[in-house]
Amino acid sequence: MGNAFSLGKLFGIQFRLHYSWFIIFILVTVSFSWQVFPVEYPGWSVVLYWVMGTATSLLFFASVVAHELAHSLVGRVNGIPIRSITLFIFGGVAQMTREATKPRAELLMALAGPACSLVIGGLFALLWLVTRDAITPVAAMALSLAVVNVALAVFNLIPGFPLDGGRVFRSVLWGVTGSYGSSTRIASRVGQGVGLLFIAGGVVIIFLRPFDLSWVNGLWIAFIGGFLLNVASVSYRQVQLREALHGFTVSQAMTSVCPVVSPAITVSQLVQEYVFTGGQRCFLVVDEGELRGVVTLDDIKTVSQQDKDVAKAGEIMTPVNRLKVAHPEQDALSILEQMNALGIGQMLVISEGGVIGLVTRDSLMTLLRLRFKPGGSDSRDRPMRSGGS
Ligand SMILES: [Zn+2]
Repeated sequence: MGNAFSLGKLFGIQFRLHYSWFIIFILVTVSFSWQVFPVEYPGWSVVLYWVMGTATSLLFFASVVAHELAHSLVGRVNGIPIRSITLFIFGGVAQMTREATKPRAELLMALAGPACSLVIGGLFALLWLVTRDAITPVAAMALSLAVVNVALAVFNLIPGFPLDGGRVFRSVLWGVTGSYGSSTRIASRVGQGVGLLFIAGGVVIIFLRPFDLSWVNGLWIAFIGGFLLNVASVSYRQVQLREALHGFTVSQAMTSVCPVVSPAITVSQLVQEYVFTGGQRCFLVVDEGELRGVVTLDDIKTVSQQDKDVAKAGEIMTPVNRLKVAHPEQDALSILEQMNALGIGQMLVISEGGVIGLVTRDSLMTLLRLRFKPGGSDSRDRPMRSGGS
């Protein structure tokens, strides 16, 4: 979830904008101002084309925000808190602090977005009907936004998990079979299948060009297929990983032997004296008898080879005031979810007031690798436990 910056809060939900979003914003603005409007409505001034094109683009963006907000607010009412939403090229990705624990909640949450887009599309269609005789530019914009919002609803209802349609499909399966795990696996597999169908369809259009379709249409469809295949594959893996972590506690995942080092030690000394010889993966940086921060292998990896002799532990550490705390009996899955939600890579493990170790994303992944068998057995079929303890 890197490469995004904060837009501020709405209804207590942090909105973030992914940089890739700017590409689509420029594309949408240019295609409306330079292509769609001049072709459909000749005779406007150049300035008017660009003003209406930019306004259409901004309202399209607002429509996507409303779609995501609808998911989040319905989710919140149904007990699925949303911490932040990152807006991407194809819409948004909500950072849920936990997944739905009931199929009904997931169904309602998944349907809320497309329903919101359809309502917005209907409102713009209404605006178009009212303005089409008198105010052409406004009517042109309203018609475009009506079409775009309906397209947004339809695209998201494609049954490829984790798109909304795939979530609807999973929640129905889940409700019928009562099995969260196998429903997610089936929905992700169907998502991969839909992605492959889109790619195949795109390739057919590029080479055969049926129904007057151009190769650009084919390229777009294949591109969307690639996107669907990718997100479905990622969520399939995530489900398997999450199931593999089920039942583990922090004490099983933590690194308990973290040597105490001075903030003045250089990174190359750390590597030479501890990582290579002792296989250490974490360090407590202590100065004047007080814990100042921690250094993990991930921190060391961010230092370039030529900087290793000058960079010091005190400079690359995560300072103690930014460290979050975990307890040994907490379940590993909820800790991983917290790390994802907060965007951090490690947490101090505290017991009876003292630091007893460090749990890192790295150590959780090591634990997973021991448990994780690709395409593993279907016997581990139970709903995921929700976060918190
Ligand atoms: Zn949606």
